[in-house]
Amino acid sequence: MTTTEPRPPATDAFGFEATPVDAIAGLVEAARDAFDAGRTRPLAWRLDLLGRVRAALVDREAELLEALRQDLGKPTFEAWTADIGFGISEIDHAVASLRSWAKPRRVRTPVTFQPGVSKLVPEPLGVVTVIAPWNYPVQLALQPLVAAVAAGNAVVVKPSELAPASAAVIADIVHGLGDPALQVVQGGVAETTELLAQRVDHIFYTGNGRVGRVVMAAAAEHLTPVTLELGGKSPVIVTAAANLDVAARRIVWGKFLNAGQTCIAPDYVLVDRSVHDLLVDRMRAAVTEFYGEDPKGSPDYARIVNEAHFHRLEKLLDSGTVAVGGVADADERYLAPTILTDVERDAPAMAEEIFGPVLPVLATDGLDDAVAFVNAHDKPLALYVFSEQDAETDAVIERTSSGGACVNGTIFHVSNPELPFGGVGPSGMGSYHGKWGFDTFSHLKAVHERSTRLDPPMMYPPFTDQKERLLRKGFLLPDPRDAVKLVRAKLSRP
Ligand code: NAD
Repeated sequence: MTTTEPRPPATDAFGFEATPVDAIAGLVEAARDAFDAGRTRPLAWRLDLLGRVRAALVDREAELLEALRQDLGKPTFEAWTADIGFGISEIDHAVASLRSWAKPRRVRTPVTFQPGVSKLVPEPLGVVTVIAPWNYPVQLALQPLVAAVAAGNAVVVKPSELAPASAAVIADIVHGLGDPALQVVQGGVAETTELLAQRVDHIFYTGNGRVGRVVMAAAAEHLTPVTLELGGKSPVIVTAAANLDVAARRIVWGKFLNAGQTCIAPDYVLVDRSVHDLLVDRMRAAVTEFYGEDPKGSPDYARIVNEAHFHRLEKLLDSGTVAVGGVADADERYLAPTILTDVERDAPAMAEEIFGPVLPVLATDGLDDAVAFVNAHDKPLALYVFSEQDAETDAVIERTSSGGACVNGTIFHVSNPELPFGGVGPSGMGSYHGKWGFDTFSHLKAVHERSTRLDPPMMYPPFTDQKERLLRKGFLLPDPRDAVKLVRAKLSRP
């Protein structure tokens, strides 16, 4: 079927079915029992499960691709790369690194506390809840699950009901693993509310900030720690010293991927006034090069997830002059890759995260103006800067705050598992990917082991003046090397 034919609405052809609300407590309890029985702690269990999730992603690729096409009209290339391939590479990285991540981590012991050894011992948190959104429904449900399993936890995963076909396949994959430590809850607000009412050991939520507040309030009830992977308006700054050809292609690619429904998509562009028109021309050319004269017929362009989001986005087209795109077809939930110019700084498109294929481009009076604009708004999840001058890109990185940033690129900073992925301030709290995910789902227990060979009476009563003098000196020497320096200095004195 080509994308020019009407798309079927998201259906329950994959068997999406909400979990009865009164069954949810029992599912959490089953995960709890498995954790309490010690099932999830051995590395062998973790590695086996990671391997089986990987095998499911490979074996059920065709089904996953079809589900993603039904839910979001996702092109195969994008669906495989972002939802399946990314998941597989995260699993491979975890499997290769797990033994080293899980080892106790030695830290230095101050001279005052010698003889002794200090270390951080990673231990699983217990039962963790993963609540996922609809835009990368497979990746954003399974990657946190993978990190939580790697860290030895039991997991209850709640895929997004707004991507029902993908949610059904995810549930089937998890059920197919047949492990009591992994449970699935399906459904929307009612089911998630019930899930949030359960006592768990960590809640990992990805989605919008409004629900993020609901999650945090529910977590407060049991003092449950949370990771909130939220969104916001991620800016792009383009200076007069940018390579405009490359900038245009990378901005257009990052923005219109998944029809703009990406949490780290460029939300708006702040471009130096002197190169504004040139950048818009080159972005227009990039849109045509990537999606053809009529992007509606392109097999490489996704659709808007549902009618409500489609109508929300359609209204934003009035926020400026349509320089590229602007075509909307409600029947297909198609919104063309759209670039708006002449956008006022307080236009509706600048008020909230766009989360769709509409890109406002605003002219600025230099770098200071752009930085001041970014800093006058919420700290974003991602920030992008394009310039060939290191002094400019360094200044932007230093003078702004964002969850992550990419210089002369978009999106790519989240695919390196060595870098944490997460927000700051209103764009989120906590992070994951690679070892960062393992640590998020672990408690790093502080352990200090003391030798019994020596038992100096320093700390024991009766407290004498001499003990106090020694103690005061000792506390000022947290590093054993300082003690060596002190002794050397004393010895070298005539
Ligand atoms: P969504 O509507 O799928 O909601 C996310 C989850 O919250 C779903 O599982 C849903 O069932 C649940 N939920 C919705 N309303 C609820 C309520 N009242 N109480 C309890 N649970 C509720 O997804 P969304 O929020 O529309 O996702 C889009 C947002 O997520 C954007 O802001 C985007 O930037 C952000 N996002 C962030 C990341 C990230 O990794 N930081 C990734 C993707 C999306």
